[in-house]
Amino acid sequence: MRRAVCPGSFDPVTNGHIDIVSRASFLFDEVIVAVGVNKSKNRLFTPEERMEMLTEACRVFPNVTVDGFTGLLTTFCQERGVHAIVKGLRAVSDFDYELQMAQMNSSLAAIETVFVPTSPEYSFLASSLVKEVATFGGDVSGLVPEFVHERLVARLDERRREEGL
Ligand code: ADP
Repeated sequence: MRRAVCPGSFDPVTNGHIDIVSRASFLFDEVIVAVGVNKSKNRLFTPEERMEMLTEACRVFPNVTVDGFTGLLTTFCQERGVHAIVKGLRAVSDFDYELQMAQMNSSLAAIETVFVPTSPEYSFLASSLVKEVATFGGDVSGLVPEFVHERLVARLDERRREEGL
């Protein structure tokens, strides 16, 4: 059984993430989308909300499941019998950090990182940018699934009200 993990924060899931998960699901028998539950990072959506949206977005892939992880990704992989990490590479700027992480992970445990080049239409796409553009009223409806877009707009409205803007 060839099992892989697609890790990230997914705050929220974008069409770029879904593209990578879909391609990983062709390459591996089983894919676990692993949501990092790192408390120190300031997130727009809770881990539960992020996992809920991912589960909905990945429903079409029968061999994909969604789970959360804390601590080291390599520990999560060892516990689940996962030997490959799949990462999307958007641009050269992703490469330095990703190479360093891949080498660290393979030195911590016998886990290979497989890099999948981003589809050109998603190469500029990042959750952080989607949130930033949406915050200032930009149209991001083509960059995330429809139901994610609705939740994103609703959450940003809530935030605006809380902040009295
Ligand atoms: P992080 O919080 O680690 O920055 P993200 O949740 O933004 O992670 O993304 C998780 C992973 O999904 C990234 O490490 C990258 O491999 C992949 N990814 C993100 N955006 C894209 C995209 N537009 N195209 C391809 N892969 C992407």
